[in-house]
Amino acid sequence: VGELPRRVRVVVEAPQHAAMAVALDYLSDRALPAGTLVRVPLGKREVTGVVWDEEPAGAAARPHTVPTELRPVAQVFDALAPLGAGWRALVSFAAGYYQRTVGELALSVLPPELRRIDGVALARRLARLRARGLADAVAAQPATPDPGAVEQPELDAAQQAALQAIATAAAHQPPAAVLLHGVTGSGKTEVYLRQAARVLAQGRQVLVLVPEINLTPQLEARFAARFPGHRLVAMHSGLTPARRLRHWLLAHLGEADLVLGTRLAVFASLPRLGLIVVDEEHDASYKQQEGARYSARDLAVWRGRAESVPVLLGSATPSLESWQRALEGRYCHVALPGRIGGGALPRVRFVDMNLLPRTRGVTTALAAPLVEAIESRIARGEQSLLLLNRRGYAPVLHCADCGWKSDCPHCSAWRVFHKSDRTLRCHHCGYTQRVPRACPACGNPDIQPLGRGTEKLEEQIAELLPTARVARIDADTARRRGALEASLAAVHAGDVDVLVGTQMIAKGHDFRRITLVAAVNPDTALFASDFRAPERLFALLMQAAGRAGRDAQQAAGSEMWLQTWHPRHALYAALRAHDYEAFAASQLAERRSAGLPPFTHLALLRAEARQAAQAAAFLEAAAQAMAGLDGAEAVTVYPPVPPAVARVANVERLQMLLESPSRRALQRLLTAWREPLTALRAEHRGVLRWAIDVDPLTI
Ligand SMILES: [Zn+2]
Ligand SMILES: [Zn+2]
Repeated sequence: VGELPRRVRVVVEAPQHAAMAVALDYLSDRALPAGTLVRVPLGKREVTGVVWDEEPAGAAARPHTVPTELRPVAQVFDALAPLGAGWRALVSFAAGYYQRTVGELALSVLPPELRRIDGVALARRLARLRARGLADAVAAQPATPDPGAVEQPELDAAQQAALQAIATAAAHQPPAAVLLHGVTGSGKTEVYLRQAARVLAQGRQVLVLVPEINLTPQLEARFAARFPGHRLVAMHSGLTPARRLRHWLLAHLGEADLVLGTRLAVFASLPRLGLIVVDEEHDASYKQQEGARYSARDLAVWRGRAESVPVLLGSATPSLESWQRALEGRYCHVALPGRIGGGALPRVRFVDMNLLPRTRGVTTALAAPLVEAIESRIARGEQSLLLLNRRGYAPVLHCADCGWKSDCPHCSAWRVFHKSDRTLRCHHCGYTQRVPRACPACGNPDIQPLGRGTEKLEEQIAELLPTARVARIDADTARRRGALEASLAAVHAGDVDVLVGTQMIAKGHDFRRITLVAAVNPDTALFASDFRAPERLFALLMQAAGRAGRDAQQAAGSEMWLQTWHPRHALYAALRAHDYEAFAASQLAERRSAGLPPFTHLALLRAEARQAAQAAAFLEAAAQAMAGLDGAEAVTVYPPVPPAVARVANVERLQMLLESPSRRALQRLLTAWREPLTALRAEHRGVLRWAIDVDPLTI
């Protein structure tokens, strides 16, 4: 008996501004449950989509109402269980909150391979996965786990109290999010592991989010060693498409018990989810910076509440948003105040740059007392870490005769001098040229680098400490596949005396022999115009300091050095005392009086055009279109301004800030605003792109 065709609603990948409905209607000869993956025709193409909700009530009873122009579903991915209600709710919420279409978000958070292949190919892969893939996934884990890691360390009193508090918070309905505030080396990971063990014992899945891909192997090894009987998969953009799909499927099928990944893993399909851990929850990389600009940390908290799953947010320097929620009692605050084994935090020492002798108007890279301190470390077989948050050799080349500087012809930025391959590279658009032999403006052959990047620092260290073994880690050295792993392994093996690098080396790595950390030039962030700059600098320096003295035996002599022109700055005073709470209190007081987050809620409307005036006209019209919209009465709109780098790759960028004391009012306004914005875009042909950024990290 042939069934009558019925209407199904399908979301497909449609760009935000395609003026396409939330879902499209197709015909199917059978009922398809929501969450089913399908292939459907879209124009001349065939694309992957997700069935989004049940057939509207009554439609099946009146098949004659189905318009004949509807096209049939081309293929149903029958081999794959539909995406669950929890996953669909998360995607719906995220799309609404971050002002994107459901289809765009849903498809963009699925593995790219899943969108590319058809149902037949997927069925084949699933069969292969069932046949041997499960064993393959397990084989990806270290074959011989470190025996020391398998052994469960004794918990100290603070960790026991933390686990008790987490159990209490988890018993709430819905569970309260827990802010696990622990100094570096306080044993946060052990708390994650113990809580994960509880959840795994209940037969549920654990999701662990980390800020960076290169931190996953280390944590993966620890979890794998602790839970040898459980399947663990990684989820991040560094995996091959095939592997990413395999890991995603293992999670979706409920075959993987532990999922470890970067921000995109917050959207993993996990039918038995029982715990979400967000490690280093303050880290800026949890915020997606293009497309749907979601915050994985915030979505993790939302998902935990929606699915009644406990969420652990861990950090030594919590984001001020999370800290304020803990102060208000909305998050459960759990502290790990001391280092494991009673290890001391490094002593913070300042080099007052005002007191240093200058040679030819240029200060030396490292002050003499710091050089001596590093030398004595080398003599004792200990390591030092030098932090300079700027890669390349020099941020700009300069001609003293005519004033020429190595600006980028396509961006409002300097091109950075890279000495290793003698290029001038724009870090914004990628425009790269050989370094000119002489000044392109006046022909002066003597053009000089201004300022210092990690490449130059590495060179200067080699001059200052000729016998030291120096290594450098930054985005340039890590570009080659395997290079980062090799450098890290050399540091761990003790083959490096001095490690130079950007913030890449400050995060998370468990270096055991480093007893000195120095920030070479941290002041630049001190007076940045961005209101979050102090928060980021404090977190970075605390995190960098945390790399020193991780081995309790060496902790007593460990030091954090700062070379600064402002040794009495309040931020440094808080750092010297390792006093996050004092720093947070002063920052929150400033934010409250200035009307900034977490006390207000922000959104940006960004516009890009060939000419700044075109972007400005669009933004001004957008502001006018706001009048009378729902929520507008509670939202303040500021005049359009360029971001820190206004022009990138010959495109002028402009942004307009919206601020409201009410998150709901701001959300209502943004939702009501999208239609007029889409219409306006058609009138402003010069505008190449526009986007709404909710809860932007930088303004
Ligand atoms: Zn010149
Ligand atoms: Zn450029």
